[in-house]
Amino acid sequence: MEKFQNLIAGEWTDSGEFQSNVNPSDLSDVIGEYARADAKAAGLAMEAAATAFPSWSISSIQQRADILDKVGTAILARKEEFGRLLAREEGKTLPEAVGEAGRAGQIFKYFAGEALRIHGEKMSSVRPGVEVEITREPVGVVGIITPWNFPIAIPAWKIAPALAFGNCVVFKPADLVPGCAWAIADLLHQAGIPKGVFNLVMGRGSVVGEAIVESPRIHAISFTGSVATGRKIAVRCAELGKKLQLEMGGKNPLVVLDDADLTVAVNAAVNGAYFSTGQRCTASSRLVVTAGIHDAFTEAMKEAAAKLVVGHALNPETQIGPVVDDSQLRQDLYYTDLARQENAEVAGGRLLARETKGFYLEPALFLNTTNAMRINREEIFGPSASVIRVKDYEEALAVANDTEFGLCAGICTQSLKYASHFQRHAEAGMVMVNLPTAGVDYHVPFGGRKASSYGPREQGGYAREFYTTVKTTYLAP
Ligand code: NAD
Repeated sequence: MEKFQNLIAGEWTDSGEFQSNVNPSDLSDVIGEYARADAKAAGLAMEAAATAFPSWSISSIQQRADILDKVGTAILARKEEFGRLLAREEGKTLPEAVGEAGRAGQIFKYFAGEALRIHGEKMSSVRPGVEVEITREPVGVVGIITPWNFPIAIPAWKIAPALAFGNCVVFKPADLVPGCAWAIADLLHQAGIPKGVFNLVMGRGSVVGEAIVESPRIHAISFTGSVATGRKIAVRCAELGKKLQLEMGGKNPLVVLDDADLTVAVNAAVNGAYFSTGQRCTASSRLVVTAGIHDAFTEAMKEAAAKLVVGHALNPETQIGPVVDDSQLRQDLYYTDLARQENAEVAGGRLLARETKGFYLEPALFLNTTNAMRINREEIFGPSASVIRVKDYEEALAVANDTEFGLCAGICTQSLKYASHFQRHAEAGMVMVNLPTAGVDYHVPFGGRKASSYGPREQGGYAREFYTTVKTTYLAP
């Protein structure tokens, strides 16, 4: 079995322990053995990054742009191969996985350009004979901690801007998906990233993740994952005075109004709720439907969900891949049971057997639910969605906003009046009109409000807010 090591101070290293990377579509398929770092190895990575920072922070923007562009070009050229790896380790269908790999390539190329566009401002002073310059500098050594559900895109949208703006990186991917993380490290290494500027430290959250959060060598942390872990990290970062960016859970509403195009609404709901096995922070888990279209929408949804083909992620007919692992599967089944206990009607949601042993689950639709039920308040993160019936637009908006989360909110309507009102009044970082709540561009800001996010936005031009710090200089020439 092939062994994959961590990249620390420019060297491939391991600290003795390895973990198997297992395919959730076929538990007999082991992708490889991936190094599992201890706190000491994590410490060496942080030391290497701190040592590399003084020269990388003033490196030529052309050097940074060239390295990022090389990585982007390589990912795009090999997106089928990386997509296959992603589908094998995470369980997204092959087209979804190849799409995600392509997006990661575009992100690296976008930030290659951003490295060249770092600029400041020159302003007049209120004092005669004084000039003011506002410039941006890198933050320092950035700890990047990522979840399992977008194993190549999320690391890309954190690592690429960090390096573009002159920061050094210590990257800890989720334990379940070390393959894509290792592939990115390999590409950066091959592209000539200087020793210590980028370090890959695969290992447990409670060991490597905590070491990164606690280390005085780390100046900023960009984290995507669950609310529970994010909040824990936030407390420590506040105590330690570290810059922090958190992207966490969602309970995203998709409002369907009486005047919606039924086909558009059902397509948006099926895609948003079930594609990528519902394992997206932007998934449409609450379908908030007005009375006039409720019955037609529910019937069409049940029919469409029942037709979805669940199977091995690499099988060309598959539309919904497996759940990522046993623990997520148990969580999904727990919430389906809870839906019944809360007196919802449950369509689908059964365990499925396929040719290979894997975590196969039928998409579930919870009907006759209210927004007060726990199934509509807590993030499930599986292939399930609830229908919440409401009287009219006003009630739909109130229900959509009645949640602790605020990542994405969608509306299906043909009325400009309601679409515009919803755009302004939805308490979310992203709004979708006649589109699924999931599925975003790579060149514009991504992030949410309330319990979903904390700190500056990720992606697009807005990424510089987190990965740079501002300096104001007063000059008396
Ligand atoms: P998780 O919180 O369990 O883990 C995320 C990362 O944190 C992993 O790398 C993990 O090893 C690490 N970690 C765990 N404990 C840690 C600790 N004590 N200190 C430091 N690091 C630690 O999340 P997950 O299960 O991997 O991902 C699913 C979650 O991610 C869902 O809640 C989902 O909504 C969220 N998510 C959010 C977005 C977004 O942009 N808002 C995108 C994707 C996923």
